[in-house]
Amino acid sequence: MANPTLSIVKGSSLSSLYHDSKKISKTIDNLNADKQVLLELANKLHSTLELDKLITLFKLEISPILNLDEVIYITPEEAHQQDIDTKGRHMVSYQLVLYKKKLGEIALIRRTRFDDKEQKFIEKILVAALLPLKNALEYQQAMLSALQDPLTGVLNRFSMDSVFSREIELSNRNQTPLSLIALDIDFFKQVNDTYGHTTGDCVLKHLTEAVKQCTRNTDILFRCGGEEFTLLLNNTSLEGARQLAERIRENVQNSPCICNGQSISVTVSMGISLFQSDDTQHTFFDRADKALYQAKETGRNQVVCG
Ligand code: GH3
Ligand code: MG
Ligand code: MG
Repeated sequence: MANPTLSIVKGSSLSSLYHDSKKISKTIDNLNADKQVLLELANKLHSTLELDKLITLFKLEISPILNLDEVIYITPEEAHQQDIDTKGRHMVSYQLVLYKKKLGEIALIRRTRFDDKEQKFIEKILVAALLPLKNALEYQQAMLSALQDPLTGVLNRFSMDSVFSREIELSNRNQTPLSLIALDIDFFKQVNDTYGHTTGDCVLKHLTEAVKQCTRNTDILFRCGGEEFTLLLNNTSLEGARQLAERIRENVQNSPCICNGQSISVTVSMGISLFQSDDTQHTFFDRADKALYQAKETGRNQVVCG
């Protein structure tokens, strides 16, 4: 098992506070055949690439062996932001590192202390979990980047289908309104022609931020192509969507867009639709798109309801 490229860094250990080793040593003695246990565990963990499933599997496997109350996994992104409340119980925690890549932190918590033998066992278990964990984190990252627009960081058009069908299903089930805003930058070609493509890209990023400043956490923003964006608004009526679109329109017009030292004025046009019971994803989207077209035709920098 020893492998110099695998490392786990032990964090705080509160295990010396109380002592109740009898029951535990018995459990550990019973599984003295560590190797077999570890091999089986590693095989199980390698069976999934999904991070949530991996962590659940890990918890299910080791909790009964070590009599754990809780297993807390913190991703590399969440580390340093999260304090673990042990509620007076014993904890061993480890920073997980593989090939110098940080894989997050894990904390095992229970009412009784962890003795040396158990801690050695835990460390072996964690070594067995490192490679499956690294694979799962990389898979999650790949999935995220496949669905994300690299320029603006919002969801891309490939993610729209699945997100739309999920939101439509939720709206039907909960009987809540679902609205959509189709947004397009006005005369964007002129921005590229006048200032260049790099400045155009900067304007797209600025626009994304200006839109996000107006939205709620539950609103979902997509860049569906070029300078066209879609906002899917769950639990939002047509009137609610219209008010939000107006706020976005004003915010975009009024927030200064400074790109490469140039101040660029940006406006947007928007079309809105409300999901109807006989709608498909396509007809729902199409109504907002037609309203957007009308907003363009009748002067731009305005909102039209479809
Ligand atoms: P309208 O007000 O009718 O929407 O006019 P417009 O100029 O915005 O529309 P048009 O569809 O004629 O032009 C869109 C432009 O968007 C053309 C293309 O150069 C630009 N564009 C598309 N994708 C990108 C991108 O990723 N980066 C940059 N900089 N420009 C892009
Ligand atoms: Mg445009
Ligand atoms: Mg366009």
